[in-house]
Amino acid sequence: MAKVQNFGDNRNKGWCVFCGGPNESRDHTPSRVFLDEPYPADLGVSPACLRCNNGFSSDEAYMACLLECVMAGSAEPTDLSRAKIARLMEGNSSITALLRAARRSVDGGVIFDVDYARVRNVVVKLARGHAAYEMNEPRLDDPTDVFIKPLAMMNEGERETFEGWSGELAVWPELGSRAMNRLIIAGDDVYDEGWLVVQEARYRYRTSVENGLRIRFVIRDFLACEVAWD
Ligand SMILES: [Zn+2]
Repeated sequence: MAKVQNFGDNRNKGWCVFCGGPNESRDHTPSRVFLDEPYPADLGVSPACLRCNNGFSSDEAYMACLLECVMAGSAEPTDLSRAKIARLMEGNSSITALLRAARRSVDGGVIFDVDYARVRNVVVKLARGHAAYEMNEPRLDDPTDVFIKPLAMMNEGERETFEGWSGELAVWPELGSRAMNRLIIAGDDVYDEGWLVVQEARYRYRTSVENGLRIRFVIRDFLACEVAWD
């Protein structure tokens, strides 16, 4: 991704974008556990307090491992396609034990019990990072809506709505925000069907201010997420 400056005001530069606490560290959006090396050159970063920066790591690791396990239908590190996550599980016996216990065979298929609260915690955190970094709209309040669903489980209409780019630029993002500057500097070229691809087959996202603030992202070309603040 191209480096795009934020010329917006200083609302999101002085405090933790996740809790409003002190600016003690820099947190990446998306979190690097969802990406593989080499990392994209210009990952989004936002100020975060140490408690938030460290506090999300365990849920993020859980979610990244869960996704790989679900995609592989297995909770064995050697079956996973992302080597980084295989190594993470090999070095983290509690996550591995948790995911082995979550895996069940049902009617010849495999399902995983999902700790939704942990997944939701990560999804809202990612959305807050995008809102602050991309839109210059840090949001500490609870979102109005959180939608999390595997792309493969969506029906055609849901999928079209989720992927579509219908007239979204009718409302432009805030002047000075990165989203706006991407439009001015690079036109539509930076977008692939409206999506910013952080890393192919790993993470893509898009933002919209058409109906309140909406952040959508797809992790691993598998899990579709949308977080909205009306
Ligand atoms: Zn914080």
